[in-house]
Amino acid sequence: MILGAGQAGGEAAFRLRANGFSGAITLLGEEPFLPYQRPPLSKAHLLGDMAVEALFLRESSAFEAADIMVHTGARAEAIDRAAREIRLSTGERLGYDRLILAAGSSARRPGFARGELQGLHVLRSIADVARLRPEMRAGARLAVIGAGYIGLEVAAIARKLGLAVTVFEAADRPLARVAHPMTARFFRDLHETHGVRFEFSAAIAGIEGNTRVTGLRRADGSVFACDLALLGIGGIPESGLAEAAGLACDNGIVVDDSMRSTDPAIFAIGDCCRRPIPLYDRRMERLESVHNALESARIAAFVIAHEADPETPHKAPMLEAPWFWSDQYDVKLQIVGLSAGHDQIVLRGEGPCFTLFYLMSGRVLAADCINMPGDFPGARKLVQERLRVAPEILRDTSLPMKEILRLAAAPVAQSQ
Ligand SMILES: Cc1cc2nc3c(=O)[nH]c(=O)nc-3n(C[C@H](O)[C@H](O)[C@H](O)COP(=O)(O)OP(=O)(O)OC[C@H]3O[C@@H](n4cnc5c(N)ncnc54)[C@H](O)[C@@H]3O)c2cc1C
Repeated sequence: MILGAGQAGGEAAFRLRANGFSGAITLLGEEPFLPYQRPPLSKAHLLGDMAVEALFLRESSAFEAADIMVHTGARAEAIDRAAREIRLSTGERLGYDRLILAAGSSARRPGFARGELQGLHVLRSIADVARLRPEMRAGARLAVIGAGYIGLEVAAIARKLGLAVTVFEAADRPLARVAHPMTARFFRDLHETHGVRFEFSAAIAGIEGNTRVTGLRRADGSVFACDLALLGIGGIPESGLAEAAGLACDNGIVVDDSMRSTDPAIFAIGDCCRRPIPLYDRRMERLESVHNALESARIAAFVIAHEADPETPHKAPMLEAPWFWSDQYDVKLQIVGLSAGHDQIVLRGEGPCFTLFYLMSGRVLAADCINMPGDFPGARKLVQERLRVAPEILRDTSLPMKEILRLAAAPVAQSQ
């Protein structure tokens, strides 16, 4: 049984079959859709360039062919671990031998924005886009709360559609939690060039309006008038059912290297789990990315299939350094690795096309490639293999990445 029919749940179902798992597979999803990709929700789909049908990861015939039973529009309300059953909102109970929790994450809402108000939006699902898109009319004033990836991507689309956009951010720069100040500066300049207004160190205390948003109230009492507002202040893991069932949770359902929770029969994958990242000394992380959804799903599917049939050799999934991307205007940002702990920054390139390498003790920990798609595969290899490279070599744009990889020193031991 897989609870959550999103990117991770869908992948787990097919990977179980690819690993030869022959038991029944049920995929349970609250939304009325087959598993779909979310990244275009704040990009091409929001712009109107990508139809809903193009978001689906697989057609319904693929689920039938793989004998995967999909229950859409079915919300799970409780996990009964003793009986090994899931209780649905309809009261129906479904049994399981192994349960994979893949419930994703939901938009964080500050206390002042809990209620329903027309014109107040979050962006996590197809339904959210269906509410937001008709309000994105040229000339409308949009207030974005939070300068993270989703907030900035929506700001970029809104400018393309002709809205007046102001972004409110509590920190002193965009992407403060996730990017180096140099990358942050680049995106600030990019948005300002496109006419976005920023208010940094902003403290929003409330939303104005009775049935419809009319403005944002700052902590000093002043009001910013707007026609619609988007909350983009991050996600919280959908771990409520797991917590209520007594599983260990700490900013996500805590799992081990096998994606197994503190109940041996229950696994958790994707946005809702917090898991050890092997390439980073098994540091516990909760990541919201397509890579994390796919990799954690593949690990769980491998482990479950192997336990069901230990005689058959199963191929363990390849573990990759975490990667992520973001599209804003005509800029493509590609990130590989986790930069926390870096002690050196090396800049390769300049202007609108550069790669920022994050090093620790001389080895490449992570990289942000901005309009440098040619650098990205090489950067992934440097990070994946923990290679040491002299900064002057990384910096030298006359050297293609292929040559840099050749010059890079031998991999260092994982324990160093
Ligand atoms: C707007 C947006 C843009 C993004 N852009 C990028 C990007 O550019 N690059 C990138 O790498 N990542 C991006 N992401 C992140 C990425 O899409 C997610 O990390 C990924 O979808 C996580 O997969 P998941 O299966 O864990 O969760 P989801 O795909 O969210 O699926 C979880 C599913 O579980 C269902 N569910 C929850 N609770 C229950 C319940 N009780 N009963 C039944 N069903 C339930 C939910 O309705 C949902 O359908 C973006 C996310 C969003 C929202």
